[in-house]
This record gives sequence, structure tokens and C-alpha cells, in this order.
Amino acid sequence: MNEDNRQTAALPGADADQATPDSDSLVQTPSKSTRYGDEIIHEIEKIFPDAECELHHESPFQLLVAVALSAQTTDAAVNKVTPALFAAYPNADAMSRAEPADLEPYIQTIGLYRTKAKNIAALARELEDKYQGQVPSNRKQLEALPGVGRKTANVVRSVAFDIPSFAVDTHVDRISKRLGLARPQDSVEKVEEKLKRKISRDLWNRAHHEMIFFGRYFCTARNPRCADCPFGRICRKEKLEVWKQAEKKRLKSQRDTNG
Ligand code: SF4
Repeated sequence: MNEDNRQTAALPGADADQATPDSDSLVQTPSKSTRYGDEIIHEIEKIFPDAECELHHESPFQLLVAVALSAQTTDAAVNKVTPALFAAYPNADAMSRAEPADLEPYIQTIGLYRTKAKNIAALARELEDKYQGQVPSNRKQLEALPGVGRKTANVVRSVAFDIPSFAVDTHVDRISKRLGLARPQDSVEKVEEKLKRKISRDLWNRAHHEMIFFGRYFCTARNPRCADCPFGRICRKEKLEVWKQAEKKRLKSQRDTNG
């Protein structure tokens, strides 16, 4: 579908906060009970049937460290540094005895490496002190660990413990907004809440990976493959861009006014 057609086509996700757009469904014969979010996930799954966590790890501890290292860095960059890091410090016991300065040389090619070295050293110590070196699956306990936020906790719960969770990273946020599963102004927390409402719980864990793959390899931030996309009819990218521009102007004028 070309750009013009897309803009004039019906937008079943246009008020997706409330709607389950059966008549404009992405699938040919949707069940009345099919959730709108599930339909989207099933379509993405056709493109990326093997989507999975791309951070290399061999234990919950290594996954936790890899996710902590991946903040504002690509998974590929993290995968380049973790083999040597994990060979030297394979578990919480080994890493808890390291100083941040010992860890820095292993991770200095990734962004914010000094802060991350401090965090993973402290993280390992806390796991040793409080949990006998094991990674807890409890959300509150995970989020209380150094450098671990909601997104990291969600990834660990989902990937290491198979607990239904929905981590919202930059790809999931963008895809949710382009596909009308969330509104442009929604915070990360709001996006997570909406995805959990609109996608069946038993799909959350794989939906998270599928949305990441879709965002990373298909609907990229700068060069999305719109000509090949099954979502042209419902895509809200243009509206999202208009909102972003307006928001930029609003913030600039606020800054100018404040001085
Ligand atoms: S690739 Fe992304 S931006 Fe392009 S039509 Fe598909 S969902 Fe929209």
C-alpha cells in the first residue's frame, strides 16, 4: 500500500484504547473474542516466528548482567564483551569479589561502562549477601538490586523464569505507538499497562521478543520497510511524527518562555 492510500485508509487502531476493530481486522475471519493486540502479534509472528532474546547468557545471573549492560547500547555490542567477562566472572560469587575497576576493561567498549561496572559489581555482591548468589524472580526484589529497573526486571522474569511479563524498550514503545496499541504521549509504564490489557497473557513473553524483532529488523526508527508491511492499513506513524514535532515545538517554546 502506498503512502497516500495508507493515510486515507480506515484506521482500526485509531481509538485502539477502546476498540476491538473486528470489521477492519488484520486477519480475515477474526473470532469475536480475538483481542486486537493478539491479531497484531500473530501477524508479526508470521514475519519473525523465531524471535527470542538475543543477549547471550548461560544462567539467570549472566542474563541479568547482560540486560544491565544493554542500557542505551545494542545487544550486539553487549554480546561482544560478555564472553570474556563471563569467562573471568561466570557467576555472582566470582563477580562479587571484583572491584568495578577490575570489570571496566572488559566492558569499556560499551556506553556508560564506568557506571555499569559499578552496578554489576554491587549487584553481584548483593546477590551473594542476600540470595546466596541466586537471582530472585520476585519483581520487588529484582527492582531493589543496583542498576535494575522495571524493564530489566521484566526481561529477567520473562526470559529466565518464564513468568508472563512485558518489558517495554525503545522498540516496543515505538511499535506500540505506530500500531495504535498506545498513544503517542503514553509513558513507558502506560504502554506496558496497555499492552498487558490488549494482548492475551499467554502471549506476553513471546510478543515481547516479536515486537523487538519487528522494531529492530523491519519497522526500524529511521528506515521502516513500509512497502512490505502488513500493517499499512492501520499504521499511525504519520500521526506519531506530527505529534512528536508538535511536542518538540511546545517544549522549545516552554524553554524560551522560562528563560
Ligand atoms: S513498517 Fe512500521 S511504519 Fe511502516 S507501515 Fe509498517 S508499522 Fe507502519
